[in-house]
Amino acid sequence: MRDRLLAMAKRRGFIWPAFDIYGGLRGFYDYGPLGSELKRNIINLWRKYYVLGEGFAEIDSPNLSPEDVFRASGHLDKFKDLMTVCTSCGAAFRADKLVKTENADSLSADELWEEMKREGVKCPECGGELTKPEPFNLMFGTHIGPKGKGERAGYLRPETAQAMFMDFQYLYRYFREKLPFGAVQIGKGFRNEISPRQGLIRLREFNMAEAEIFFDPEEKDWPGFEKVSDENVRLIPNTGGELLMSIGEAVQKGIIRSRALSYFLGITKKFLLDAGIDEGKLRFREHLRDEMAHYADDCWDAEVLLSYGWVEVVGIADRTDYDLSRHMEYSGENLKALRKYPETREIEVTEVIPDYGKLGPLFKKDAKKVAEALISLGPDIAGDITVSADGKEYTVPESAYRVEKVKKKVSGEEFIPHVIEPSYGIDRILYAVLEHNYKEVIDDGETYRILSLPARIAPIKAGVFPLMAKEGMDKKAMEIYEMLRNEGINAFYDHSGSIGRRYARMDEIGTPFCITVDYQTLEDDTVTMRNREDKRQERIPVKEIAKKIADRIDGGIL
Ligand code: AMP
Repeated sequence: MRDRLLAMAKRRGFIWPAFDIYGGLRGFYDYGPLGSELKRNIINLWRKYYVLGEGFAEIDSPNLSPEDVFRASGHLDKFKDLMTVCTSCGAAFRADKLVKTENADSLSADELWEEMKREGVKCPECGGELTKPEPFNLMFGTHIGPKGKGERAGYLRPETAQAMFMDFQYLYRYFREKLPFGAVQIGKGFRNEISPRQGLIRLREFNMAEAEIFFDPEEKDWPGFEKVSDENVRLIPNTGGELLMSIGEAVQKGIIRSRALSYFLGITKKFLLDAGIDEGKLRFREHLRDEMAHYADDCWDAEVLLSYGWVEVVGIADRTDYDLSRHMEYSGENLKALRKYPETREIEVTEVIPDYGKLGPLFKKDAKKVAEALISLGPDIAGDITVSADGKEYTVPESAYRVEKVKKKVSGEEFIPHVIEPSYGIDRILYAVLEHNYKEVIDDGETYRILSLPARIAPIKAGVFPLMAKEGMDKKAMEIYEMLRNEGINAFYDHSGSIGRRYARMDEIGTPFCITVDYQTLEDDTVTMRNREDKRQERIPVKEIAKKIADRIDGGIL
């Protein structure tokens, strides 16, 4: 079935192997005209949920980042898979994919090596001996700027998330310094996957849609939680077993630890079903402790059942204050938020108070800088103190400052926000939607292929056909075709072959409606509108076509 679906996807212009005329390259695909449109519609649906639905702010940042970013984020040290190489043919593999153990990606290099030896794993391509697994960093490295002084090491981003952390101060101000708020980014992620062999499931350049939701960890409630609390979900907690229960119950029983995380699990379920994922083939699995990414404290994956087995399509991680803390440490910037007190409080603090009357004559124009440097040392100082400012050293005598307790009015306390991150892989979702909606029906010895895509994500919304390309029917159909496109409805004009053949061609690419112009149209300006799912036809006035289709596309999303 998968081979026939992929053949259809290639023939009809959904997915093409990239660089095909040069033999192609593993992990890279082109979206053809229908695939691009389908991808755009899935992304627009995602925007409806996260930007319009949640009120989050979308940003757009560079794909290429300087090395500092990934040193701070931990990707330089930790974003690695364990690789084993064949000593005979040189082929490389992800070692965890070669052993039979469950959850092998949580094993260390030594444990994997032991397991490989125990199972007698050999090279899947030539049967040769394999090396002991070694960590391989998945980021694509490059150089930014010309060789020499201006050159900087850079990497293509392996996730879009970092920009949201680095822009935290801007975003916090944009949201008028109120938590929780969310920022999202839709864009490319790049990972130098060791040996991608599963089509759109494992790409080296792929499309991500990520949301980073910043919140106060002391706030236990979650706004709008009741919107998802009754959603039933299939859960696989890391303590074992499989449960079917509502999100509300899962939180109440402590199966999902964070209410914030559970909210996005509910939103993810709703989104995936709206996009056309089969609910019976959807589950949420919690990561094992040592399977988790370096930045996560808890993580639930939305997994869908495909011909490849269960595949992660969305990761929902509790990133705690990891990223903001690391960027604070590495950049020296303050990435904190203010937890406001209900009323202003008076507190006592110990402070360094410079005596400007003494510093002035001593340090002249540098006095202000010296005073600032002195204050920045904090209250644990005594005696003559040497401070440095702008690379110069100054000795401040004991008599030029005091350390005193002072009363201060404060309106709140600073803290580092925590972050929940739903991270969606658009290509995997797109592929899963194709698999879950592809059907083959045998009728009169002929095989018909039907793609039951939800109307809202179908690349072509309507096929427009003249019954026959003559007597003005073709002209009228062409007018309707143009009218629909002007209304923002992607349509396809087709006049070749029987109407049955034309329906079949549209069914195969998931088009929900077909409009036929016939003799009666020329008399009363009505057409037949045929619905792909129930095959029913209705007669409607030409002027109602666009509205009927638009209603079906947008109805009931949010
Ligand atoms: P992660 O940050 O690893 O949780 O990835 C987030 C999402 O991106 C996953 O849920 C996948 O849907 C998607 N993804 C990760 N790696 C790849 C890849 N190599 N090819 C396609 N999609 C990917």
